[in-house]
Amino acid sequence: MRLDRFLSEATELTRSQAKRALRQSEVSVDGETVRDASRQVSDTQDIRWQGSALARIGWRYLMMHKPVGVECSLRPAHYPSVMSLIEIEQIERLHPVGRLDVDTSGLLLISDDGKWTHRVTSPNHACEKRYRATLGETLSAADAAHVAKQFAEGIMLNGDEKPTKPATFEAVGESEVIVGVTEGRYHQIRRMLTAVGYTVVTLHRESIGPLALDPELAPGECRHLRPEEVAAFE
Ligand code: URA
Repeated sequence: MRLDRFLSEATELTRSQAKRALRQSEVSVDGETVRDASRQVSDTQDIRWQGSALARIGWRYLMMHKPVGVECSLRPAHYPSVMSLIEIEQIERLHPVGRLDVDTSGLLLISDDGKWTHRVTSPNHACEKRYRATLGETLSAADAAHVAKQFAEGIMLNGDEKPTKPATFEAVGESEVIVGVTEGRYHQIRRMLTAVGYTVVTLHRESIGPLALDPELAPGECRHLRPEEVAAFE
């Protein structure tokens, strides 16, 4: 990889700061001062900035059990950011992969790999997200069957131009349902359930595509994904 890219992945330097450090002869590769940002280097070489040896961190992939009361925005408006719950080096590189509302809990992915983020969130990949909702009303079997049909056919939501893509709806308790969608519209699950006459009391994301929230994670906790979990989206 290019030396300026290596520097920006191994330090807090941005790409342009890395180029400046190179111009100022602050970087050496295998003992030789290098000023050329385009020099090809590999992880096996001894690369130093201001005399300190560097190691590239590599892409990071985390799953969090997002609690309610935190925002997924990096510049939150009213509540703390989910990022305030994480202690990790170079946190400024990481971003939430998609969003959950402040009042929604559950599986949130966090990464610094933009290509992977795109694979997980792109509408072209139609990754199914499953949510458990507690409703303010009780559901009969007939109601559940009726809503399941409406969700399968698509719902026209206020202000949207197209109906929602086919979604699944399954009653799993008197007032508890699992909804599966492949889109990521604004407040989609709350709006879909409201559109068919229900009140959402709690909303929790259980899974994204092949990945379910690890039951060992308490609200606010996160862990690194295992390599096979990262690869499951490829
Ligand atoms: N749909 C919602 O309404 N809220 C979320 O947080 C996610 C999906």
